[in-house]
Amino acid sequence: MTKRIMAGSVPIGGGAPVSIQSMLKADIRNIGEIRSQLAALEEAGCDIVRAAVPDADAADALAELKKMTGMSVVADIHFDWRLAVRAARAGADKIRINPGNIGSREGVRAVAKCCLERGIPIRIGVNSGSLEKGVLEECGNDLAEAMVRSALRQAELLESCGFGDICVSLKASDAPETIRANRLLSARCDYPIHIGVTESGNVEYGTIKSAVGIGSLLCDGIGDTVRVSLTAEPWREVVAAKNILRAAGIRRGGVEIISCPTCGRTKIDLMALAREVEEGVRDIKKDLKVAVMGCVVNGPGEASNADYGIAGGSDSGVIFAKGRIIEKLPQSQLAKKLISMIRDDNG
Ligand code: SF4
Repeated sequence: MTKRIMAGSVPIGGGAPVSIQSMLKADIRNIGEIRSQLAALEEAGCDIVRAAVPDADAADALAELKKMTGMSVVADIHFDWRLAVRAARAGADKIRINPGNIGSREGVRAVAKCCLERGIPIRIGVNSGSLEKGVLEECGNDLAEAMVRSALRQAELLESCGFGDICVSLKASDAPETIRANRLLSARCDYPIHIGVTESGNVEYGTIKSAVGIGSLLCDGIGDTVRVSLTAEPWREVVAAKNILRAAGIRRGGVEIISCPTCGRTKIDLMALAREVEEGVRDIKKDLKVAVMGCVVNGPGEASNADYGIAGGSDSGVIFAKGRIIEKLPQSQLAKKLISMIRDDNG
């Protein structure tokens, strides 16, 4: 089992539930936009939010950001260790540094000292695209091995300062390489691991790529916190992360929808129905399984195994709840009825 660290009030590692992260996609000083992204992230169920800190003003703005949200706030630092110190002083709950560009060992020691005094953990975030000079050659051009070596070397430096609240991430934009690197890492240390595939793409392809990378690792028992990086609004990353966790069998509250692919037997507009149900339950945190099935072949079976379900008929359908048929309704009323029953569910 990995060690446990605390990012503000969120535990990472040591058997804690796998937490979900995302990143703000606006300048931290753009208060209006930041407020709306934070609200959407909180509604989607995000645990930890990261903000880019490109300069001293942005570091100072973390103090305001902290007042705007109940989520843990991580400062994302590249190039200048002084910004990490400043962000820690401004109240960040965790600092992310990139060993490939953070600079001198003395600088890293100063960050460790400041975070140690404040009880703030540090994530060593290695990216395949910004590895420190020479490490790839040292490892015979083995990218996964070079990422592991870079992270563990930085961890050793932090540990030499008496700093142990470390989390590690190794991200490549290639899913198999990300998987290999994290497997190697997991065999060599017990630091909690943040997993994700970097720059994975738009919602559709990026979600699939992330599901392959993150999902494979989760199925190996690797990964304490996840971030799906998508070229899309931050809340979409949280929705994708939740779905990956669910598909990997790591349930985390929220409604899982099982819907059939439809076929020539379908006599109901199942795609519209599934969409309506999905939209209607997105904010519901109850841990429930809901089946939306097109016909009576598999419909009643699946629907009765789920907590709630619909089995379609001809422009109509039957609603199931906890294995029992509740009523037959026309298509236009099915989703509304199902959603209201799910909202009223008391476990
Ligand atoms: S549940 Fe019925 S409608 Fe859906 S794919 Fe199966 S046979 Fe077709």
